Amino acid sequence: MKEVFRNIINILIFRNLSINQKILFFSLGSLFWLLLISSISLLTIFKMSLMSEQMVEEIVPQEKATNSVIRKLRGANISVHKIIIYNDQDSINANYSRAKERLQDCKNFLNALLNGGTVVDYSIITDLLIDRFSVYPLQNVNSRKLVEDVISRIEHLDNILDEIKSERLNKNNLNSLLEKVSYYDVTTSESIKILNQNLLNILNEWRIFEEKMYEKFNFSVLIISSVFLITALLSGAFGFLISQSLRKSVTEITDQFKKLHSGDIDLTKKLTVYSKDELGQLTTEFNKFMDALSGLSSFKKIIEEDDTIDDVYMRLARIFSEELKFDSFIIYEVSNSTNTMKVIFPKEAEGLQLYCSRDILLDCQLCRVNRTAHLISSAAYPNICKYFIEDKDVIHFCLPIITEGNVGGVVQFICAKREECDLEEFEKKIKKAMRYIQEAQPVIEAKRLMKALKESSFKDALTGLYNRRFLEESFENIVAGILRRGTILGLLMCDIDFFKQINDVYGHDTGDVVLKEIGNNIKNSVRASDLVIRFGGEEFLVLLIDSKEGNSIEIAEKIRKRIEDIKIKITGGFIQKTISIGVSEFPVDTQNFWEAIKFADVALYKAKEMGRNRVIRFTQDMWTEENY
Ligand code: GH3
Ligand code: MG
Ligand code: MG
Repeated sequence: MKEVFRNIINILIFRNLSINQKILFFSLGSLFWLLLISSISLLTIFKMSLMSEQMVEEIVPQEKATNSVIRKLRGANISVHKIIIYNDQDSINANYSRAKERLQDCKNFLNALLNGGTVVDYSIITDLLIDRFSVYPLQNVNSRKLVEDVISRIEHLDNILDEIKSERLNKNNLNSLLEKVSYYDVTTSESIKILNQNLLNILNEWRIFEEKMYEKFNFSVLIISSVFLITALLSGAFGFLISQSLRKSVTEITDQFKKLHSGDIDLTKKLTVYSKDELGQLTTEFNKFMDALSGLSSFKKIIEEDDTIDDVYMRLARIFSEELKFDSFIIYEVSNSTNTMKVIFPKEAEGLQLYCSRDILLDCQLCRVNRTAHLISSAAYPNICKYFIEDKDVIHFCLPIITEGNVGGVVQFICAKREECDLEEFEKKIKKAMRYIQEAQPVIEAKRLMKALKESSFKDALTGLYNRRFLEESFENIVAGILRRGTILGLLMCDIDFFKQINDVYGHDTGDVVLKEIGNNIKNSVRASDLVIRFGGEEFLVLLIDSKEGNSIEIAEKIRKRIEDIKIKITGGFIQKTISIGVSEFPVDTQNFWEAIKFADVALYKAKEMGRNRVIRFTQDMWTEENY
């Protein structure tokens, strides 16, 4: 029920129409009411004029004709009296015919009152036209009867007149003549009385007519005022409701903008959509914008709190696949110091079929995005990048990730083949992806810097090898891994033989060169997963991860041999140096990691003692009182 009522209100206030349609319908509505009021007013005026016309055309002539009859009856009466007064025959005849004529006029006028017709009134004395007018027949039955009565009386008067004339001419009995005249007088005054009565009737009719007219007029005024009132109320109410619905949306959007500006905004809060007009659309778009903003800002907050740079890349990848629904994309990380790039996502990089030539991994300058730092789109320019070796018809967009002013990474998005790719949709998603990349860029940059800083504090500046601090930070993880996997950790403590001589003979700089060269060679003698640490001034500790029992000594020997063989280039020639290595194995020799290092050191001491340039495996008998 409430829903139905709401729907009706929505229709009435044009909720689902656009703003210009609202104004159009509102204007049309107002115009309709205006027309209605105008029509009623015009109709009233027309009706009034018709009625007054009727009054002038019908009632006035009837009244005029009646008055004329009265006047003419009086005239005839005077003529009858003159017949008595005058003695000469001519005067008698003349007055007789005047009376006769007047009576005839009376009959004509009265007949006109009964049957309608034109009345022509001449002066009997001057013969001049007094009046000429049309008379409508009387409608009132009573009035008609009165007129008929008067007509019969006038006919009677006509007869009396004839009798009076003949008696006057024949000079008969005066008494009888006077009797006839007085009878004529009585009949005339009776007729005039009746006619006066009739006049009253006509006037009465006039009054009734007038009353009717006023009634109609008042009724029309009432209708007009009511319609006007309804119009005013309706336009007021609809105007209020419509403006209210517009105002509500505008106020809410304005408030949100103010909050957005001041930063005091809950991005997840949605604005209510009040209408389906332009403002409704604005609200919907605003909500979408807020959604995107809240998505972006929460994304940024999350990646800022992520632990490592790889976590950030993975989160970015998740947004691309789960939220933006990209089917296929690759994230590369660029190393500007080594001029290489590597695949960060998808994880299983080794078996991954790249869309680009693998050459770009070894020389990142081959990658066009990396070189130009611009978005690359094969949609706009097919064959844009010659290192894209997949079918050239496959649409690809490559976006740079800019860190520290350089390209620090590249994201490649793949669409289907040109004819199968919904390019419009794809480009929309690319734009969204760009916004996420933009948000991620400063975070990636910060994390990369942090990573570099951390690495530098764990590395020795001269040789680039790990330092002792690194060992202190990570030995627990290394030990835990070895114990978990049940493998062996080989510890090789290497020391350059008679190194001091180099400093003494060639100087400290040459000593540095030799140190660096030997450190490098040790590093290149072991697996990438093994760790080489500059343990002391010219001492290197090699940790052989997941070694086998007895295997460490072989590797140590290999290292020793390699160092023995290399010729180190120094200013003014070459130099050859040897190293001594003490070997221990964890957890074979001891369960204590630091003790294992100590054992390797003891073995090294033994190697030095035995003449240097040799590998000595630690044995328990080397651990004597004096070592404590
Ligand atoms: P041996 O080990 O065979 O007993 O003799 P050695 O001369 O190598 O031993 P010693 O421990 O007496 O000398 C180590 C020298 O290494 C002392 C120090 O001046 C030098 N040294 C340590 N760190 C550096 C460095 O960073 N650069 C240079 N040039 N020399 C260093
Ligand atoms: Mg030493
Ligand atoms: Mg030494």
